[in-house]
Formats: sequence, C-alpha cells, structure tokens
Amino acid sequence: MSSVIWYLYEFARKSWAEKFADAKSGHDIVERPARFRDFPEVFKEYCIGCGACTAACPAPGAIKLVRDSDTSETEGLTYPVITAGACIRCGFCAEVCPTDPKAIECGENHLIREEFTILPVEKMFVIDDYLCIRCKKCMNACRVEGAITEEDNKIVIDQSKCIACGDCLKNCPVKGALKGIYISNVEEQKRIINLAVQKLEKAIEDNQDEIKVLPADKVLKMELPADELIEESLQILNNEEMVIDLIEKVTDRLKLRVITWDEEKCTKCRLCLEDCPSGAIIYDEEKGVKRDPDKCLRCSTCYQTCPFGVAGYYIAKFLLKRSPEEDVILITLKASNLPI
Ligand code: SF4
Ligand code: SF4
Repeated sequence: MSSVIWYLYEFARKSWAEKFADAKSGHDIVERPARFRDFPEVFKEYCIGCGACTAACPAPGAIKLVRDSDTSETEGLTYPVITAGACIRCGFCAEVCPTDPKAIECGENHLIREEFTILPVEKMFVIDDYLCIRCKKCMNACRVEGAITEEDNKIVIDQSKCIACGDCLKNCPVKGALKGIYISNVEEQKRIINLAVQKLEKAIEDNQDEIKVLPADKVLKMELPADELIEESLQILNNEEMVIDLIEKVTDRLKLRVITWDEEKCTKCRLCLEDCPSGAIIYDEEKGVKRDPDKCLRCSTCYQTCPFGVAGYYIAKFLLKRSPEEDVILITLKASNLPI
C-alpha cells in the first residue's frame, strides 16, 4: 500500500496533472524517474506458477501468467509476462514472489529508505540510549531480521527495516527506554506539548505561597485534573489515542524547574543582578530587586549567588493517572539538592 501512496503523491504534482490532461500517445517511457522502482525483471526458470504476482498487481493488464507449450521432452514453463505500458512499477509482484531466488525482481523499494520522510508507518520506534539497560529483550522479540541490532554495545533500530509492529516496545522492561513516536501531525504535537507545559507551570505558579515555605526535606504533592488539557488538545488534534500518548510522554519525561522569590529576605545587595544571564532581575529604588518570571531561564544562578536565600529552587515531576472517573496529573515538587 505504501508504494501506492508514493505514486499518488508523485501523480498529484501539478506538472504531471497537466501532462496527463494533455496526453500524447505513441512514445515509450524511456527514462525512469529517480525515485521510481525499475520495471520488474522476470526470471522464468525460477517461477513456480503460484500466481501470487498476478493477485498482488494493482495495475489492470500489467501482468499475466503464461504457459509455454509442452514438448515431447519437457513440460512447458509457466511464468509471468509484464506489459510495460500498463505496469506502474510499484514492485508489489516482486515483493510477494515467494521463490528463492525470486522469479521477479524489481529494483529497490525507495519508500523504506530512511531518508524519505513518507514512511509506510505511523509510529517510529526509537531507543533512549541513556535509559536502555542492554537486556536485548526488544531484539529477541523483533520479528524482522536485522531491524534491531547491537552495535558498539548500543542497541540500534534500523528504521529502514522496521515495520512498526511495536513488539519491541511491548517487551522492553524499562519505562521510557523505548518510545513509539508518531511521525505525523508533528506541528500539532508540538502545540500540545506546549499547552501541557503551560498548564503545568500555571498549576505550580498558583501554589507559590505553599512552595516558598516548603522545607528542604519535604515534598509537596498537588493534583491537576487533566480533562481540560485533554479537551483542549483534542481541539488541536482530534485523535484521542495520540493525545493521551503525548500527554503521557510529556508527563513521564518532563521535569520543570521552579524558582521562587522571597522578597522579605532581600537586603538589596544586588549580587544576583549581574549574574543573571537573561537580565530577568532588575532593580528599582522604590520597588527593590524584582525577578521577571517571563524572562527567567530557571538556570538557578540567582539561587546559587544570593547569600540570603531570596531565590528558592525546586524540581517538579509529573505522572498522568488515568481513571474512568477522572484523569489527573499528579505533581510532586521538592527542593533542589543543588548546593547553595
Ligand atoms: S517495531 Fe517491530 S519491527 Fe520495528 S524494531 Fe520493534 S519489533 Fe522490530
Ligand atoms: S528492551 Fe528496552 S532496555 Fe532492553 S535492550 Fe531493548 S530498549 Fe534496551
């Protein structure tokens, strides 16, 4: 099916459509467009006459099985004959041909080459080398020879061979070590990730007073109902499976750094002003030393510079908890263990 999509894509180009509308018959196709497969080549001596090629061919009249007449010495050969004018060079016949060596060969299937972005899959599976424990369970579970290999003590997925069945993901025992990433609607996915981060930041921001008084050895737990985020995400991308998968990945992966500002402790020494790399801290004689959260990079420099503990530095982690009644994002916040 993927080859068909590629051909449709190629045929949908304006120049092709114009030529199609003004078709002139009579000349042979002499050049093969760079991305197209070759015409199938038949090796009749290997054919077993199964007919799989004729069943797979989507182009009317492009392929038929013929049988030579028997002679007194041998039985006539059965083999496919391709009509070049009708063949669309999708290569399906060669792909289904079960003989070894193949009775039909048909160039390279360009579609499964990594550099082409139109992959015949919805999800791409990638390994996070940092989390991977090299147990090779994915490799053993993979049904495609050579799709997962070990190279230089790293587990590697060959995207050109992967058929996106997801068996590797099901067998990986480490959360996050293997990920299935949707390769469609990338812009929408980015917007949803942004939306999720904004909502999580807002939820934390609303609890600033509690955070400021959080002792270093305690954690603060909060809950953010996820229904609103899910609903708004569905307005961006109307695919619930993808939306939930994305929110799960964001919450799994995300660590938000939180800086708090306790003005009462400030002596206006202004050491932080010079050190802040983004100019987020300003001084005003009347208002004192102020931090602009919109400019702040949360690098924690002020936290490490201020001798009076005005800046607080916390880390928030998240978890999406799903239930039939209500989906909730659990937020856990604790003081950073960075030395002051
Ligand atoms: S998705 Fe399937 S084919 Fe691809 S690497 Fe995982 S198990 Fe193998
Ligand atoms: S199953 Fe997961 S942890 Fe094990 S080798 Fe594969 S990616 Fe790594």
